[in-house]
Amino acid sequence: MTYKERFCAWLNRSALAEDATLSTFTGSTCRCMASRDTNNPSFSAQWHRDNPSATACNGLGLYSTTEATTPLSFVITEPISMISGNIPINKEWLSQIGEIQKTDRFVWGTVNRTSGAFVDLSGKSEYHDYITYDSNKYLIRDVTDLPGDAGQVAHLVRRES
Ligand SMILES: [Zn+2]
Repeated sequence: MTYKERFCAWLNRSALAEDATLSTFTGSTCRCMASRDTNNPSFSAQWHRDNPSATACNGLGLYSTTEATTPLSFVITEPISMISGNIPINKEWLSQIGEIQKTDRFVWGTVNRTSGAFVDLSGKSEYHDYITYDSNKYLIRDVTDLPGDAGQVAHLVRRES
């Protein structure tokens, strides 16, 4: 059994694990995404002002979307418990993440609550994918693999709506 499998198995029966839902979206990529840095495509409100007849993507960078949901279990922590040094972190990792807000959360895991399988949060879009936890929506900002291939820690940023 790998460390990751062991961690997932632990998450599935741990009282510390919380339930959440991952929403991922697929659809047609909006042309506003390609209007800026092609190496880092991002939503452009300016492009939509310049092209008022184009289909509105409402900040998602996608239109005609289909939503898929995945039931998740993870351990979720507030930024303050990160800083208290309970969890081994390094300066390089924190500087990579940048500024942390009080409403941000860190999640450790992550496992599919139904199948028990590891859920890879890396590569999820900051624009159109999100996690719903405790009635709040969170963007997945940074995902870092834990040492020893034990899973991942993801930095979540609270969304306005
Ligand atoms: Zn757009």
